[in-house]
Amino acid sequence: MEKNKYIMTVFGCQMNERDAETLRGFLDELGYEEVEKVKDAGLVIMNTCAVRQKAEEKVFGHIGRLGKLKQENPDLTIAICGCMVQQEEVAKKIKKSYPYVDLIFGTHNIATFPELLQRAQESEETILDLWDDAGQVVEGLPVTRKDGIKAWVNITYGCNNFCSYCVVPYVRGRERSRLPGDIVAEVSSLAAKGFREVTLLGQNVNSYGKDLDELVDFASLLHRVDTETEIDRVRFMTSHPRDFNEKLAKVIAEGRSVCEHVHLPIQSGSNRILELMNRGYTREHYLALAEMLRGYVPSCALTTDIIVGFPGETEEDFAMTLEIVEIVGFDSAFTFLYSPRKGTPAAKMPGQVDNGVKKERFSRLLEAQNRWSLERSKALVGSVHELLVEGPSKTEKHVLTGRTRQNKTVNFTGENVMPGELVMVEIIEARTWSLAGRLKT
Ligand code: SAH
Ligand code: SF4
Repeated sequence: MEKNKYIMTVFGCQMNERDAETLRGFLDELGYEEVEKVKDAGLVIMNTCAVRQKAEEKVFGHIGRLGKLKQENPDLTIAICGCMVQQEEVAKKIKKSYPYVDLIFGTHNIATFPELLQRAQESEETILDLWDDAGQVVEGLPVTRKDGIKAWVNITYGCNNFCSYCVVPYVRGRERSRLPGDIVAEVSSLAAKGFREVTLLGQNVNSYGKDLDELVDFASLLHRVDTETEIDRVRFMTSHPRDFNEKLAKVIAEGRSVCEHVHLPIQSGSNRILELMNRGYTREHYLALAEMLRGYVPSCALTTDIIVGFPGETEEDFAMTLEIVEIVGFDSAFTFLYSPRKGTPAAKMPGQVDNGVKKERFSRLLEAQNRWSLERSKALVGSVHELLVEGPSKTEKHVLTGRTRQNKTVNFTGENVMPGELVMVEIIEARTWSLAGRLKT
């Protein structure tokens, strides 16, 4: 073990992945080196997620296991950050039950990480530092991106939507937008460094700019990124159905670099449940959006998130979710069992659904969605797509893998093809989760 070697575990969404890149940036500046094995590390960092109970349980498991390591190595520094510990009662519980943890800090004070780390390494006590308020957007923090091909770029932080099941507005604070000029400049510099693709990140990208003095919305930001930078591909997530509009669909249709893929979480197909969720749209509105989008961008892939077993969900409500899966035919979906989150309105709602019922509905939903995912993949057989090559496939080393503009994974064999290249492939076989392709020369 060496003091200046670290290992970082990241749970949760792309926002956390992006924050981890900032932490890596700081650690690079401090002369640290990232290692793969926990036994080689003098510093262990866990960037945590609070969105579902399971994510939190995993972190508790990890912290528990680190206790033994700390006994063997009293010099080991253990730091825990992210959404889970932004919840004050959770942070206090960790401090009390796992006193060997050296540093606990939240989501709003990541810019002060070097200082906090130093304090933690000098102190005998656990340093716990949480800020209630996010404050202004801080620009110019260091960033270390591991992959030189694809990059995450924040456009907004926080969320104002307060969906009744969701902890994000409590742990990430109010919505704050970065200035469009800063975003365009970052994408330009990424393109100049050889990056091929950026994903613009926000909890609800469609409400970008509402808090700024400058008159700018997400569609115009996307248009600027498309026309003012040299980046080959632009993606964005997550879109919210309440604020998704025709102007945005046109930018996707006409954009040079804007990829034909929209992740548009529906959460439920029942208007009654959508209302209880405080989502701010109806199933009819969602269906109209899907139709409008496909009208402008016929090749557009549409993916979604669905929660099963929200409080009060009846068999009829669930049937409406299944029905919408059949009507829309999503390319893929992230499906979740509803998980009560402390402090959110839904956790106190009557009619919490029994776990067995949730699981049974979940498996019916999965069956329907898997069928559609395969169906959508099959429809692509015979067509030719531009692929951004990522590298060797995870399972077969001699096979290369890449993604289409619709974000479909394609495996193919080819010689003299390098990661980061854009190549054309013909789809020759469909599987539920991926496609097989042949290089077109
Ligand atoms: N801002 C994004 C998603 C953030 S969380 C959006 O609004 O779409 C990612 C997904 O996790 C959500 O879309 C939702 O489907 C799921 N999720 C959030 N809170 C949850 C909870 N308490 N239980 C189960 N799933 C949840
Ligand atoms: Fe959570 Fe809703 Fe905000 Fe998404 S939009 S982060 S689900 S509150």
